Amino acid sequence: AGSVALEGVTKRYGAETVVAGVSLAIAPGEFFTLLGPSGSGKTTTLSMLAGFVMADEGRVMLGGQDMTHVPPRGRGLGMVFQNYAIFPHLNVAENVAFPLTVKRAPKAEIAARVAEALEMVKLTGFEQRYARQLSGGQQQRVALARAIVAHPRIVLMDEPLGALDKNLRYHMQVEIKEISRRLGTTVIYVTHDQEEALTMSDRIAIMERGRIAQMGPPREVYEKPDSSFVAAFLGEANLLPARRDGNAVAGPGGARLEAGAGALSAPEGLLFIRPEKVTIAPDAPGEGPNMLPGRVRHASFLGNVVRYAVEVPEGATVLCDAANGAGATLHAPGDPVRLSWRAEDSRL
Ligand code: ADP
Ligand code: MG
Repeated sequence: AGSVALEGVTKRYGAETVVAGVSLAIAPGEFFTLLGPSGSGKTTTLSMLAGFVMADEGRVMLGGQDMTHVPPRGRGLGMVFQNYAIFPHLNVAENVAFPLTVKRAPKAEIAARVAEALEMVKLTGFEQRYARQLSGGQQQRVALARAIVAHPRIVLMDEPLGALDKNLRYHMQVEIKEISRRLGTTVIYVTHDQEEALTMSDRIAIMERGRIAQMGPPREVYEKPDSSFVAAFLGEANLLPARRDGNAVAGPGGARLEAGAGALSAPEGLLFIRPEKVTIAPDAPGEGPNMLPGRVRHASFLGNVVRYAVEVPEGATVLCDAANGAGATLHAPGDPVRLSWRAEDSRL
């Protein structure tokens, strides 16, 4: 009952196509995230699922049923939106009860469901308070309780934690994940925050200008991006100039590159490698592919890691994150170093 599918869904505003033929299929109980920069069409996509925005083309399927033309109320979804604030004139219990009140559910059932939902978000005892008497995080939890109180099979969330500070955000991420798992709810989550998407999701769809650029489990999209857009959007990425050299691939200074995946379809391209997959060592002659001599330009102490910016031949810069573990060697700006990485961690 909790399955969700979009089939070639398109939305235009005037001459602008803001969602361009998006198709996806989400399994019951899955935590699925739409991730992308501002303006990439995440909210519009979610709004078409909710029924607030009508698709110009394509179908919206919920629980195996065609809901393309069903109004929001008939779709049986729970929702949490960033600006979908809790009602200031209702107290916490009344706010949470709202979806059941409009359905005219029996009083006893409402009371039981509200108590259950409040317990789940750890707000038992706050029933009589009003929005102004709650912290931002507590208000967010009220909105979450309201979204789950009617036990929807599917919950939509649009940047629900956007207004919270970092610690609270992390705490709420864990809480949302736990509750959705406990209830077996399908969650469609929208965020522009890559860390949040990587932490919470079973699968992520990365949106770029109204299209899905790539879709997959967090590890897969992070480690095997199909494009430089996806590589750069999901975190720091080194994208090194690479060129065909006979049957081989040459990088900066003619270094031999061997990638775990991908190929150069043109004479020139890019080699992708994450900073944490690059090993930095004092300069010493080395044999084999994926080795670059360089000079440390900058070392940033980030606490658990030291991030080095290393200048390599042809003016390219490679970022390298080295764990600041016991016995870690520190390299100072100006030091000659050698960078290396495993072929399987890189991609052309
Ligand atoms: P996101 O949530 O990823 O930031 P949106 O889905 O809100 O992106 O918006 C995608 C694009 O559609 C943006 O360029 C935005 O300006 C445009 N857009 C959204 N809603 C409307 C609307 N009601 N009228 C015209 N343009 C809109
Ligand atoms: Mg948005």
